[in-house]
Amino acid sequence: MKKLGSISKKYACVSCGYWVVKGVLACGNCLHEFTSDDCDKMMVEYQLNKKEGFSDLVIIMLGVVLLIGLILMVTK
Ligand SMILES: [Zn+2]
Repeated sequence: MKKLGSISKKYACVSCGYWVVKGVLACGNCLHEFTSDDCDKMMVEYQLNKKEGFSDLVIIMLGVVLLIGLILMVTK
């Protein structure tokens, strides 16, 4: 389950909603710096999003399959 955990371990920026990885101090999109208060909010959001981690993985898998299909089509 390590793979699934690493994918779902992400947080939505409180300012813009961009996905940020756990441990970062500022948003990579809007450069909003996270306060401990923000982190608490993001933690709650993360707990809600955690359940959707599996569907996330399915979407990533579909993306990979589509990408491989595209590469095969181009290199034909
Ligand atoms: Zn942001």
